[in-house]
Amino acid sequence: MSAPENVYDIIISGAGPAGSTCAIGLRNRGLKVALIDRAVFPRDKVCGDAIPGRAVKVLRQLGPEYEASFREYAPKLLTKSTRLFYNKRELAFDWKGEAYTCARMDFDYFLFEKAAATGIDVFTGEQVTQVSRQDDVFTLKTKTGKILRSKMLIGADGANGVTARQLAARVTDKTNHVGSVRAYYNNVTTLRPDTTEVYFLKNFLPSYMWVFPLPGNRANVGFGMLTAEISRRRLDLKKLFYEFIDQSPQLKARLNGAVQDGPLEGFGLPLGGRKVTISGEGFMLVGDAASIIDPMSGDGIGNAMVSGLLAATQAISCFERSDLSAGFMQGYDKALDQRLGSELRLHLRSRKLLAAFPGMLDVVFAAGSNATLRRLIQKAL
Ligand SMILES: Cc1cc2nc3c(=O)[nH]c(=O)nc-3n(C[C@H](O)[C@H](O)[C@H](O)COP(=O)(O)OP(=O)(O)OC[C@H]3O[C@@H](n4cnc5c(N)ncnc54)[C@H](O)[C@@H]3O)c2cc1C
Repeated sequence: MSAPENVYDIIISGAGPAGSTCAIGLRNRGLKVALIDRAVFPRDKVCGDAIPGRAVKVLRQLGPEYEASFREYAPKLLTKSTRLFYNKRELAFDWKGEAYTCARMDFDYFLFEKAAATGIDVFTGEQVTQVSRQDDVFTLKTKTGKILRSKMLIGADGANGVTARQLAARVTDKTNHVGSVRAYYNNVTTLRPDTTEVYFLKNFLPSYMWVFPLPGNRANVGFGMLTAEISRRRLDLKKLFYEFIDQSPQLKARLNGAVQDGPLEGFGLPLGGRKVTISGEGFMLVGDAASIIDPMSGDGIGNAMVSGLLAATQAISCFERSDLSAGFMQGYDKALDQRLGSELRLHLRSRKLLAAFPGMLDVVFAAGSNATLRRLIQKAL
């Protein structure tokens, strides 16, 4: 059957960091691309707002103009160190690499605008509700009744998107998924603007609370826990969030005089480190849809952008060779595994170890006060 007129070469479903990066990576290749998102940008995304150095590296790979443009982009802070608090002890580490904090409302809009400027067709306020494939053509139906068709589909619709569910029969693996909540606070006057903070409490291990600085004495404060644990113990994460603050004298002191701005909101983190389907005949999944969040740090933005760029590279090869077969698409799986696989697996093992032996944190804090061990930890950052 010949393809209908309105068929795109590629539809990217989801315009977060993964989808927008992928769209930018596909520019100037003569491909007919559509980017679709249920939200209208700028839009918020529940997150810690820590932009890892890896994200900046991907911007550099996309082109020096993207990196330069981000450096000039105002609403962000350069973060250089982390302070860890555990019971009454404290450890501070300076980082080797470059990282930022930037509210997702701003960061994602920055990327989305760059993607839209590549000349692709952009559809926002369009929630994809159904995905099907017939005669080598994908059909996407949206809530408003719009129908879009493409030869290739890139699923970038995040942790709860439809693409991973409908194309790869994905179900949430509660043992490798974190439930998380965060709120913004204003008037956080004693937080250093270049320092992120992480608070541990014995009763809450291996979970922790983060306090990340944002411009204007603002902070992103959040807390997460393994979803299997939340279900097993029937926990109310929102209640735990405030209990944690109440039980940590250092955190309470940090937020003294601060005012919560907006609601405490929750969202899930599909962690990486275990094998899931991320590609098939004519499709690839990127970002949270591919379940590649770092199991130790919870960082997912940099990994999402890495996967978006790798998917773009694979898609270009597919169209050059006219091969959209599941076998050829495996090139994406291999590239992603090569780039992130061993790191994600190692961090998953570390997370499991810390969950099984929470006393390890005492060792880390004791080691932190030893000058030689401290230098070793510092080197690893
Ligand atoms: C509480 C919390 C804190 C976090 N903190 C950090 C942090 O500090 N640093 C970090 O690096 N990572 C953090 N993460 C992880 C990070 O948020 C994700 O890894 C990252 O957003 C993944 O990007 P993405 O593009 O894959 O998905 P998303 O950013 O979720 O983007 C997906 C896009 O798809 C759209 N979409 C969804 N469904 C549909 C549909 N049906 N049709 C059309 N469009 C759709 C959405 O509107 C959205 O724009 C955190 C996550 C959570 C939940």
